Amino acid sequence: MLKGDLLYAGKAKSVYRTDQEGVFLVEFRDDITAFDGGKKDVLSRKGYFNARVSAYLFRHLMERGIPTHFIEMADDRRMLVRSLSMIPLEVIVRNMAAGSMSRNYPIAEGTPLHPPVIVIDYKDDVRHDPMLNDDLIMALKILNAGELARVKEMALAVNTHLIRFFDSLGITLVDFKLEFGRLNDEIMLGDEISMDSMRLWDTSTGESLDKDVYRFSKGDVMEVYRRVADKICAG
Ligand code: 5GP
Repeated sequence: MLKGDLLYAGKAKSVYRTDQEGVFLVEFRDDITAFDGGKKDVLSRKGYFNARVSAYLFRHLMERGIPTHFIEMADDRRMLVRSLSMIPLEVIVRNMAAGSMSRNYPIAEGTPLHPPVIVIDYKDDVRHDPMLNDDLIMALKILNAGELARVKEMALAVNTHLIRFFDSLGITLVDFKLEFGRLNDEIMLGDEISMDSMRLWDTSTGESLDKDVYRFSKGDVMEVYRRVADKICAG
């Protein structure tokens, strides 16, 4: 599989065309950023840990009937994926209040949320990813009502599978962010599922096991990513 033109470079991943129609190559780089790009670093092997975890979790979800863009790993930090037409939404599922939810609303960090709360942001760096609601999503013609229902149903199904999986590892899935795309008429999970896009807490100690370690300088972020990746991929 030949790496072709660079199609898109985000804050932590680059997407390339390949010599195969409908297949893209996603490269997980060692860049790590937080606070809208206000904090950034390059940390050796970060791309490898996130690629490994994403591949593991995409496979786990596909085995349970969730359609994703994942095809296979090309090497240890590059993933072959189906080329989706990406939907500009960040679909966040929260099982406990944390992060921006506790910053923006009067709810203490760690408050359990039953049922889980879905928050959907408009993916637009220039506008700082403003929060949407159902009416706005349809008014902006991002999704129709049926597609929106499907996206929420898939997000909740992913949540159910991931909660169960992380529970078995002694890890609490606090929240996570998904991105979806279209392939013909089908909506599929795209992007990544990694320590950059999930908030994970050690269930017994409450220790952060995700990008919050970097955001808030809580310790050696790559030691944490390595430990979590080993645990997930042995799970
Ligand atoms: P919060 O809204 O609390 O900042 O984030 C909620 C969850 O979604 C966290 O797990 C966070 O990592 C993830 N998330 C929110 N926005 C982004 C984003 O722009 N990129 C990534 N990778 N994850 C995000």
